[in-house]
Amino acid sequence: MIYQDVSQLIGQTPLMKLAVETPNHVSIYAKLEMFNPGGSIKDRLGEYLMDDAQKKGLLTAETTIIEPTAGNTGIGLALAAQKRGLKTILVVPEKFSQEKQILMRALGAKIVHTPSGSGIKGAIAKAKKLATQIPDSYLPLQFENLANPAAYATSLAPEIVTEFTKNKLSLAAFVAGAGSGGTFAGITQVLKQKFPGLTAAVVEPEGSILNGGASHSHLTEGIGVEFIPLFFAKTKPDVIYTISDREAFEQVKQLALTNGLFVGSSSGAALAASLKLAKELPQNSNIVTIFPDSSERYLSKHIYRFEEEI
Ligand code: PMP
Repeated sequence: MIYQDVSQLIGQTPLMKLAVETPNHVSIYAKLEMFNPGGSIKDRLGEYLMDDAQKKGLLTAETTIIEPTAGNTGIGLALAAQKRGLKTILVVPEKFSQEKQILMRALGAKIVHTPSGSGIKGAIAKAKKLATQIPDSYLPLQFENLANPAAYATSLAPEIVTEFTKNKLSLAAFVAGAGSGGTFAGITQVLKQKFPGLTAAVVEPEGSILNGGASHSHLTEGIGVEFIPLFFAKTKPDVIYTISDREAFEQVKQLALTNGLFVGSSSGAALAASLKLAKELPQNSNIVTIFPDSSERYLSKHIYRFEEEI
């Protein structure tokens, strides 16, 4: 197939059975979302949000897209906005990786920084303020927009269902990290219908509030919440795993060493949680999880030197 534009490269990512030792001979399958053209799962979201806004008549040729983001959604939105000839302003807390910010700028987006200490809440407030100041602006607002879970319910989830059905595999559990919670909610809705009895587990880093406790900073990037995601009202997790930075980064290292996979820290956390969940499942069950992005966008943060740094 000859592709006509980069958005056609989004989705249909590989599903890989991991070579990992697990309790109860459980198999873990990972959806490798770093194979999207912008390098993460969020390319699906950027394209879906822009398409949704266009269909609702919310965009003109002069619209400026404004969005608070940890980075990957910014890259996905910048790709989708570029295709439509629209300007993009991304509001990013300073702490997030340089690589993601460089890539957003390379796609033509403008970045506005907010202090790391004010977290994603600070970025949301700033984006909302900018939207009142810039005429003809559109805020997709991934944290509130129901098109966020729908982006995964309509693309990623069916890809999983198709592969498991085609290969006559049962599915006992789904494991995904939560930032906005869109990935978890959108995919869980579909998988629970197709695989009755499925356990849906959500993953957060220490310092995220889902399992209680105070919000504090963490090194695992892309997941962790400062407030309960709106999308969890309808789609409640059956289990919540709180994974330490050390556990997440250890799995990042192991995945490179033993599976030849370059994954970001949220993927490491997803694998750590999957291994814990495997202990609770019957023999020979299958788990599917999501690896949202690659370690290559965290090299400036020395993702493989974590052990020596702490
Ligand atoms: N992992 C990474 C690397 C991410 O960038 C994000 C989105 N911030 C997530 C996981 C979590 O995705 P969601 O917002 O759909 O919960």
